[in-house]
This record gives sequence, structure tokens and C-alpha cells, in this order.
Amino acid sequence: MSQLPIVKSLEELEIMRSPGKIVGDALRLVESLIAPGVSTLELDQAVEAFILERRGTPAFKGYPSAVKGVAPFPSSICASINEEVVHGIPSAERILKNNDLISIDIGVAKDGFFGDAARTFAVGKPGRKTQRLLETGIKALEEATSFMRPGVPLSRISRAIQDCAEAKKYSVVKKFVGHGIGRAMHEPPQVPNFVSRSFTMRNIVMEVGMVLAIEPMINAGGEDVVVLEDGWTTVTRDRMPSVHFENSIAVGPEGPIILTA
Ligand code: MG
Repeated sequence: MSQLPIVKSLEELEIMRSPGKIVGDALRLVESLIAPGVSTLELDQAVEAFILERRGTPAFKGYPSAVKGVAPFPSSICASINEEVVHGIPSAERILKNNDLISIDIGVAKDGFFGDAARTFAVGKPGRKTQRLLETGIKALEEATSFMRPGVPLSRISRAIQDCAEAKKYSVVKKFVGHGIGRAMHEPPQVPNFVSRSFTMRNIVMEVGMVLAIEPMINAGGEDVVVLEDGWTTVTRDRMPSVHFENSIAVGPEGPIILTA
């Protein structure tokens, strides 16, 4: 696969608002449902019904694993609690309780294009430490978004995220990266949450029509993550909590256009 970013026309950006809006609205729906006693399966079912009602397709359900022998992702949302970083599988047995942190990631296809976004929510009123971690994740995404302008090097996004996390003595996950998005959920280029010479992104400069899913994953402890036996659920190695904030964002003529707001 070419590593060059796929640039969309302004007409295509308009079409991409449609799956993006469903994702954004579905995340608001999840936020309204989160409470102690609710299972992650209930959240999944509510979101799936919502996406279908809006004539979208849940993009994660049936998504193939890159690892041989691992079954495709079975659900419409990823629901990752506390030390789970990403790709948690919804279950009737996973019941939310006070002081949990839950990261919800949603992907939708509609009209030939994809939208992808994630938020981390606190169950109940978050404590000071949790609040600080959440605020850092939000700030990392906001700062990264502010650099999505024509003429800015792609690596500026990575640096913004890494700086936000490390300023608070947190770490960024390196195993998973942000990505281009459009007619496929994952398109080039990769957008790491850290600055790295080994990524071909280093020479890419943003231009109007690039659409990126920017997704800081910030760990309270160390950067290392482990994939559990189900082949999907990814946890921090030190079992410290993690947050995940993501939007699909277009580089518009006047700056960033958040498609999944
Ligand atoms: Mg993504």
C-alpha cells in the first residue's frame, strides 16, 4: 500500500460529514447512558440500533484481526474499562461501577465513507487524579487538531500529543497510531502519537482534503501494552488506567473541520 495520504475533494469532505455525524451523535448517546449498573453490552446494543436507524453501518463489527487465528471483532463499539486501552469487547458481564473510566470507540460507514471517533468517560464523579488524566487526553486531541492546517508538517500533530502527555508525566501508547480515513476506515498515512523517524510520515505536509483520525491514547503509567487472550482487548502492562480521545478531522481551506464532533 502506498504511504501517501489520500486527498479528498471538497465534495467528498461534505459526504464524509454524514458518517461523522452519526459517530458523534452515537458518542453523545453513550454518554447519556453511562451509569453504574449498566453493562457494556447494553451500550453496544443501543449504539448498534442507533447507527442502523440512521442508515449507517457499524464499521467495527466483523472487522478482521491482523493476527492469524483471531476471530473478527464481534461488536459495534469498543468498550475499554480502566486499564484497558482499546478494543475491549462489550459483554453482559462487564458492569460499570462508580469510579470506572470507560473508553468508547465507534466507527460508522455511510454513503461510501467512514467516520471513527472515541471518548473516555468517567462513571460517577471522577476523582482529582482521574480528572487530570481525562483533561490531558482532551487537551492532547484539541492541540493536535489545532495544527491540522494546510502547510503544517504531519509530525507537528504527533509532537503536540506527546508533549501534552509527557508534560504531565504520562506516557503515550506507541503500539497503535492514528490514521487517514475516507473510503476505508484505515488509510495512509499513519499518525503516531509520538515523534518517530521510523515513520514515513516525517516528510508529509498537510494539504486541503486530507482527513485523519487523530487518536491520542494516554497512559497514567508506562507506555507498554499487552493484548489479552481474546486477541483484541489491549491493557496497560502495569494495569494503570488509560484514556483515548479520537476524532475524524479534515484539513479544510481555513483549518480543521471536525467531522465527528
Ligand atoms: Mg481510529
